[in-house]
Amino acid sequence: MSRPICPKCHYPQTACLCAQLRPLATRVELIVLQDPSEVKQAKNSVKLMQAVCDKLQVVVGETPADFTQLQAYLKRQSKPILLLYPSEQSQNINELPLPAEVIVLLLDGTWRKAYKLLQLNPWLLEYQAVHLNVDAPSNYTIRKAKRADSLSTLEAAAMAIKALEPNSDVSPLTDALSALVEQHLTAMPSVVRQRYLSQK
Ligand SMILES: [Zn+2]
Repeated sequence: MSRPICPKCHYPQTACLCAQLRPLATRVELIVLQDPSEVKQAKNSVKLMQAVCDKLQVVVGETPADFTQLQAYLKRQSKPILLLYPSEQSQNINELPLPAEVIVLLLDGTWRKAYKLLQLNPWLLEYQAVHLNVDAPSNYTIRKAKRADSLSTLEAAAMAIKALEPNSDVSPLTDALSALVEQHLTAMPSVVRQRYLSQK
């Protein structure tokens, strides 16, 4: 028997986050390319992004054939398209003169999987690669929301939006992440929670 799922936030009803979710308003169009193995990851932040950002497109796949529709969609767009992926060719997103009306492609998954996705899909390299300026003061609160692991796709998206649209309010994203982190902490046995908090 599977646990009942909340139809709005897609978390189990016992862990529904709807009360803490607010819609994100941004002109930046986000598209996430997701490795199939990430879809069922409980800690994956993309599901949370979808709950606050109704325009978010998530395309699950590995090979160019999986992304045929996405490629056709991108070819029809007149907006600049950026690939958020740090590399030797990537530019600092804060230093590019860009309008807020851009498309940002994000690769979801571990670094190893993101790298593999890129190797399998050289068509992605046609787009301007950008990296985040994680030390920018505007990113302070976003980084503070983070407690473990490396930058999640949600945090990366929040920072990209902040760079492209400095006046935008990305707190619906970061607050949703904080709510999820709090919920994980509450669900932990207290001895584990103490150990976790002391590592911060
Ligand atoms: Zn819910």
